[in-house]
Amino acid sequence: MSVVKNLVAGRILEEQLFPYPRLRDSDREVLGAMLDAIDQYLGPKHADFKRWDRDAEQPAEFIQGLRDLGLFGLIIPEEHGGIGLSNAAYARVLGQSSTHDSSATLTIGAHSSIGMKGLLLFGTAEQKARYLPKLASGEMIAAFCLTESGAGSDAASIRTRADKNPDGSWTLNGEKIWITNGGIADLYTVFARTSSPQGKITAFVVEAAWPGVGHGAHEDKMGIRASSTTTVSFADVRVPAENVLDMEGKGFKVAMAILNNGRTGLGGGAVGGMRTLIALSCAQAHTRKQFDQPIGDFELIREKISQMTVDCFAAESAVYMVAHYIDSGFEDYSVEAAISKIFASEALQRGAYEALQIAAGSGFMREYPYEQVTRDCRILTIFEGTNEVLRLYIALSALKSLGKSLGELKAAVDDIFNHPIKGFGVLSDYAERRLTRATGVGRDKILAQLPQSLRESAAIYERYTVEIARVSDLLLRRFGRSIADQQLKLKRIADIAIDLFVGLCVTSRAAQLAHNAAGDAASTADAVQAATIAGLFAQQAKRRMANNLRRIERNEDQEMNQLAGFILDKGHYPWDVM
Ligand SMILES: Cc1cc2nc3c(=O)[nH]c(=O)nc-3n(C[C@H](O)[C@H](O)[C@H](O)COP(=O)(O)OP(=O)(O)OC[C@H]3O[C@@H](n4cnc5c(N)ncnc54)[C@H](O)[C@@H]3O)c2cc1C
Repeated sequence: MSVVKNLVAGRILEEQLFPYPRLRDSDREVLGAMLDAIDQYLGPKHADFKRWDRDAEQPAEFIQGLRDLGLFGLIIPEEHGGIGLSNAAYARVLGQSSTHDSSATLTIGAHSSIGMKGLLLFGTAEQKARYLPKLASGEMIAAFCLTESGAGSDAASIRTRADKNPDGSWTLNGEKIWITNGGIADLYTVFARTSSPQGKITAFVVEAAWPGVGHGAHEDKMGIRASSTTTVSFADVRVPAENVLDMEGKGFKVAMAILNNGRTGLGGGAVGGMRTLIALSCAQAHTRKQFDQPIGDFELIREKISQMTVDCFAAESAVYMVAHYIDSGFEDYSVEAAISKIFASEALQRGAYEALQIAAGSGFMREYPYEQVTRDCRILTIFEGTNEVLRLYIALSALKSLGKSLGELKAAVDDIFNHPIKGFGVLSDYAERRLTRATGVGRDKILAQLPQSLRESAAIYERYTVEIARVSDLLLRRFGRSIADQQLKLKRIADIAIDLFVGLCVTSRAAQLAHNAAGDAASTADAVQAATIAGLFAQQAKRRMANNLRRIERNEDQEMNQLAGFILDKGHYPWDVM
């Protein structure tokens, strides 16, 4: 059951949030050695990474080194020659490689998170046996080919075509753009519109060596410049029938499942980036002196460092909670995965801005790492679903689920989407009863048993769970299906849901750290600070949630829309002081 969909329905699924999950013992054993090996290989290459960023290249010998470390087989089961890490351990590996270089992390991440994930999730035994061993060793590198020039966020509008031949094989024609690993991949997961009457999308596994497959030049990008990004083209490529992934016509579902499943890799990488920024900022704050004092003594600098820490802890708590959901076989985690991607990517971008500000003039110089981190992390709010589209997805998925659960009260809500007012009284009573039952007035639940230091935070999340349910109920009744057009209202619902879910993950983790620390002085000190972080996050979240709630009703949305219309019509800013 989705935690967030339940929050929006007024229920906190405490059993899915507490206790905070622990990495599997088998993962811990492998991880220790693996993280050391990554540090040993990538650590001495920082000057190379800088040069490769400038020259926009990733030498073949370097990629061979990644192969030798086993980094292309991270999540492939051992029976197919991989390491068989869980999603959580995989996210941790990407976090470690991110502390060194984003492009290298993306090369590994695009291969595992999206490039060959379709084979893992949907491949037949025969497809897996044929490809996974080569993908695990890195003999084959994978890429994910969905985006086209006319189909970005609207992925369902792709035009690449797959026509079925009499012998059951397919002929593929079209061009994909901005494909990560496009220039170095040997295997592509390709999405194409099939020639069935419905024109449904189908996923195919396509080898780069087949006649008619080609790729364009390395794109000249703002960030992650060394990572390969190219067009990938298909001209009358014959794809055997056995290379269809999952079922014909199910390609869109396959694409979304891959993206949902892969999001914790991106989140793990973002957390690694934040760790680096915090370490860099601490060093700068200690060593840089102005007005005869280390700048770390100034409150305005200290505030930035503590905020980066709160953000990093919060992102990490959400990313690893979602990784645990995936590893535990939960089926309905796509909304939580979207939240972890949004929160981690935006937290890293805020961190990059503040770390550069702490380094100030030095931060602006290419000699230092800040400008590259700033460029590299800019992509994270754009790819694997833009954060705007993911916010809409979060709110609409949760509202849809709420609409369905309300639909259980068929008599009251029979026609809710057409006659929103009709079921008002019954719905209100129902919501009231449900909220009371769900949000802790009973008070024998996990949240009520948290350590004293976390109870105030828990109470905030309980209260706003009631509020999000109340306002969602109201919006559904008022707008019915046309809620989908109320993007600013949806964004506010999504932002409240983000604060609730991330905040509950933070609370859970702080509670677990307090529980584990018993007796040990160093761990107790860390646990006390974790509770401080939980309190800080809860207070900040409360202010944001209160603001978002208020602005669902009282806002300037109409004026903003009208002004945008005026400027869009003009096409430029019309005023001047001349
Ligand atoms: C470096 C890089 C690597 C990439 N790697 C891959 C890859 O490996 N494989 C792959 O298939 N693709 C890849 N992509 C493509 C990436 O996933 C897309 O760029 C992304 O999905 C957004 O599409 P778009 O850029 O066309 O933006 P658009 O979809 O054109 O969006 C433009 C703006 O409009 C907003 N918007 C769009 N629709 C709505 C809506 N309904 N409501 C409100 N706002 C909306 C967006 O949020 C955005 O701000 C990559 C892109 C880059 C830049």
